Amino acid sequence: MSSRRGLWRSSQRGGTPWPWIVGVGCGAILLACIVFAILMKPLAEQGMQMAYSMTACTENLQSVGTALQRYRGDHGGRYPQTLEELVPTYLTDKSVLKCPTDSAVRREVSYAYTPPPGGAPANAIVVRCDLHNIAGQEMHIVLQADGKVIATDDKGVPLEERRRSRGR
Ligand SMILES: [Zn+2]
Repeated sequence: MSSRRGLWRSSQRGGTPWPWIVGVGCGAILLACIVFAILMKPLAEQGMQMAYSMTACTENLQSVGTALQRYRGDHGGRYPQTLEELVPTYLTDKSVLKCPTDSAVRREVSYAYTPPPGGAPANAIVVRCDLHNIAGQEMHIVLQADGKVIATDDKGVPLEERRRSRGR
């Protein structure tokens, strides 16, 4: 009769309370995960917001590129003096000239426009957006003379090329 009780007691005193440690450990890991998720959420949202704005900006510049092409088709290859000249004949929606990240309410055109001289290379930058950055590093969305829209870093190196050279 006493042997049973004795065994129970000895396991209580001498044995390590594993279930308790496992329980606390799991709880701590879960708590850490929750805290991590809460801390990362704004960063993830910021990243998604940025990805969205870059996509929207790229689409804007693609529309501007198409409008410029049509304008030049009608004007013997000449570029307009300003991007506003495209509105409304070649660009019906003027809001396309504003980057979604541009918070300046009164500004109607976010993009820097440099009509390239005749004989400019295919990658000459015609329209440029300076309002984007990745992890604090400035970057640009640009429309090239050949109509391509790409993202570059602050030195004008295409991000695609940077990724490729990093992978080497
Ligand atoms: Zn932009």
